[in-house]
Amino acid sequence: MPPVFKGLDDRGNSIGTNVSFWKAVAAGAKDGNGKPLWYKKGLDYWDAVEPTDDGVLGGYGHVSERDAKENGEFLEETFGSVLAERAVGARGALVACDCGAGIGRVTTSFLIHKFDEVDLVEPVVHFIEKAEALLNGPNAPTRTNGHKAVNFFALPLEGFEPAPNRYDAVWFQWCVGHLTDDDFVSLFNRCAVGLKPDGMIFVKENNAKEGFVLDTEDSSLTRSHKYFMFLFEDVLGWEVVKHRTQKDFPSELFTVRMYAVRPKRV
Ligand code: SAH
Repeated sequence: MPPVFKGLDDRGNSIGTNVSFWKAVAAGAKDGNGKPLWYKKGLDYWDAVEPTDDGVLGGYGHVSERDAKENGEFLEETFGSVLAERAVGARGALVACDCGAGIGRVTTSFLIHKFDEVDLVEPVVHFIEKAEALLNGPNAPTRTNGHKAVNFFALPLEGFEPAPNRYDAVWFQWCVGHLTDDDFVSLFNRCAVGLKPDGMIFVKENNAKEGFVLDTEDSSLTRSHKYFMFLFEDVLGWEVVKHRTQKDFPSELFTVRMYAVRPKRV
């Protein structure tokens, strides 16, 4: 029997299990394209949010610097050998994908410094346009290292099909809570196709203390660490190379955890 996770809504009311919850989402109201309204509600929420760090971080734009610092440390801990090969010219351009990128905060503060090329995927049009302006517009910082943001895909993750063998790293931060378990799993399997043979997928997300917590405002779900491990290891059958929590974030926030995962190598 697979583990069952119990859910709470954002007022602390019990809302059944992950199994019953996702069944209800799938069986519930649909938009004009037959997609669960779950997704439209999420996009409607973000459509009304201002395109700033504070907007995408719900008023916590000031944690961005600490966030980027630990992203860099975690990348070094888990992917340092690839970065080192690149640094001595022993391999070609490193390419990353920033998924659920918002206004490109993770790219501008972190990914573009570590990778030669970065692609961004973000469904909310005024966010991805802002990302493009910040990264490539007339006031964008000049980069002497040749690093660049290349593709701006205005797509939801459940519709994203990475080009085969393009990415050294795919980074998800504060966005997979919008995906149903089924879409999460099929997306990660598509990302496996997009990864180079020694590529890695990184996930940095809030952790509920147990089970999961539904956010009725932005139509997302905060999974517990056990729930993430269940998806990575049991459902996908992947290797969790390393995981650890972010330090020094405000104590009223959920625990934030970074995961480095990849398909098992045969
Ligand atoms: N990763 C960025 C943005 C976090 S805010 C950062 O850390 O700064 C959450 C982002 O998820 C928003 O930009 C929102 O538009 C995006 N999002 C919501 N639903 C999504 C979906 N179905 N697919 C991809 N991104 C989604």
